[in-house]
Amino acid sequence: MMISKIDSQYQTDGPVFGHDSFDNHEQIVFCTDKDTGLKAIIGIHNTTLGPALGGTRMRPYKNEQEAITDVLRLSRGMTYKSAITGLNLGGGKAVIIGDPKKDKTPELMKRFAEFVHGLSGAYITAEDMGMETEDMDTIRDYTPYVTGISESRGGAGNPSPITAYGVYMGMKSAACFKYGSDVLEGKSILVEGVGHVGEALVEHLTNEGAKVMITDIDQERLKLISDRYGAAIFSGSDICALKMDIYAPCALGATINDYSASKLQADIVAGAANNQLANAAKHGQELMSRGIIYAPDFLINAGGIINVFAELEGYGRQEIMTKTKNIYNTTTKILERSRDENITPNTAAMKMANERIAQAKQPKSHTKA
Ligand code: NAD
Repeated sequence: MMISKIDSQYQTDGPVFGHDSFDNHEQIVFCTDKDTGLKAIIGIHNTTLGPALGGTRMRPYKNEQEAITDVLRLSRGMTYKSAITGLNLGGGKAVIIGDPKKDKTPELMKRFAEFVHGLSGAYITAEDMGMETEDMDTIRDYTPYVTGISESRGGAGNPSPITAYGVYMGMKSAACFKYGSDVLEGKSILVEGVGHVGEALVEHLTNEGAKVMITDIDQERLKLISDRYGAAIFSGSDICALKMDIYAPCALGATINDYSASKLQADIVAGAANNQLANAAKHGQELMSRGIIYAPDFLINAGGIINVFAELEGYGRQEIMTKTKNIYNTTTKILERSRDENITPNTAAMKMANERIAQAKQPKSHTKA
């Protein structure tokens, strides 16, 4: 097969095929349009279990390499997220290079939608950072290969509250594993990033009586959420200086890195951000050796994809909530496997996801009539 040839015979050290996170991506599509200024990259990592579903992220990336790195890491993560959550979906993701506040126009979104449509359903898009439900509605005008459209148009609506519920479930499961009880009342929890998901998580946590602290680069938003839920604002510049029970990264990825993995003063890391471990093997191991429980991001933030998958499968709210609640049980299984096999929770989760993909690849046995 072509893919294994790249692995062995034609191994490159280039910026795409040779990228650390290339990991046998099936397709990487570069989309440009001079008139609208669109520069986008769509990554389709693996379609063994189904079409590659994953959100579109718009950010003012510093350069192309940063955008490529982001799309490859995110797209690969989606494969494992869907696999471990038991969904018949593959992994993909898209990034648009630009500032959503300044560069996003209906024309640009239309052009992007046309590129998605050109992939004939191999990639199905959804909302991610820098995108809103109305952007998904715009895309829907030009292609059916989009989820997360507004409820008035038959969609499942904003996935963020469901994502937050899944993170809350994963966090409680990790707390049960660490403390012997999943009660979060009285636990000090830092939520980093109080956007769509962060806010909904803060609501669950304050409702349960946790001591919630929040931090965000958007000062206005920080004040709004603090006033709304009575959460304390963390005003320091280094979260590692703060002693806490649980750290919930809900902004950008790679916040567990060479610096924080050795300095973080928390018992548990459980948040919504994708790719929280800058280097999954190294930093996952470092957290484990320090006795810090890491609830794998791609599992506990799967509520959003469960929600948008409902649009494709036509199941309702009740089933969305049941599947999302089950993140609690899957987190427990992963943490137990991590302990029993002495591997990091991230590795345990990847193993479980890969086992499901491998099983789907097995030729089906045909019974004679
Ligand atoms: P969002 O854009 O609504 O919120 C992100 C928040 O993080 C914003 O308030 C922003 O100001 C803040 N932020 C950005 N950089 C920061 C920094 N360096 N320090 C502190 N705060 C910072 O995004 P969201 O939809 O809430 O998603 C949050 C994270 O969860 C992202 O990593 C996203 O990929 C991931 N995620 C989201 C969903 C979903 O359903 N929305 C699903 C799965 C994963």
